[in-house]
Amino acid sequence: MGRITLSQVTKNFGTTNVIPPLDLEIDDGEFVVFVGPSGCGKSTLLRLIAGLEDVTSGNIAINGNDATNIPPAKRGLAMVFQSYALYPHMSVRKNIAFPLKMAGLSQNEIDQKVNAAAEVLNLADYIDRRPGQLSGGQRQRVAIGRAIVREPDAFLFDEPLSNLDAALRVNMRLEISELHQQLKTTMIYVTHDQVEAMTMADKIVVLRAGNIEQVGSPIELYKNPTNLFVAGFIGSPK
Ligand code: ADP
Ligand code: MG
Repeated sequence: MGRITLSQVTKNFGTTNVIPPLDLEIDDGEFVVFVGPSGCGKSTLLRLIAGLEDVTSGNIAINGNDATNIPPAKRGLAMVFQSYALYPHMSVRKNIAFPLKMAGLSQNEIDQKVNAAAEVLNLADYIDRRPGQLSGGQRQRVAIGRAIVREPDAFLFDEPLSNLDAALRVNMRLEISELHQQLKTTMIYVTHDQVEAMTMADKIVVLRAGNIEQVGSPIELYKNPTNLFVAGFIGSPK
């Protein structure tokens, strides 16, 4: 289950308001993309959902339960960042196993889950290497693997491909979409890249200065943008 509801959520940093009151419903299993220009509040919104920032007012519910007092590690969400944050001294296998070790699973259970993630992500060829011996795309797969083994209710991606070159981004885009089809887990994916949004999303949330300008499927937004900002951003002919 990965249903996430934001009700009248706001966020201030000091006296600056970056998220005005915002409502959003994310259904279980949806692939939702937050898209908008740099500084519009995408990462802040994701961090609020993850619990890495506290809301200033309003409420976030995960699977119908108020998340206000639930710490990040207990929210059942796994975050994948653009910086991979892998442990350089550990093999791929150990990097992926690490959260499971912390959670106190038996070695048997750990091996099973790591092998399953390695298969989904095609990591077998480099499972015993260290991060320093991997390409950017391989590192990103390991970071996703570390999220998968936790079997989260939702994956939160913050511009996970922005450090990769153009060809690899296209590849990884397809891989993440395939992963979603396979796992059917809720995914929230932040990007400033319109093409990623249009090709990956079930539902696009277009943000501008913390405001939701429009929510809809790629086709809906393309055919019926509510304003010129959305039209310009999505690249529709209106
Ligand atoms: P995006 O991810 O869309 O580029 P962010 O969510 O990072 O945007 O930032 C939204 C706004 O909030 C920006 O104006 C940014 O400067 C501001 N901001 C983000 N984090 C902080 C923080 N910790 N302290 C103060 N201002 C912040
Ligand atoms: Mg950001």
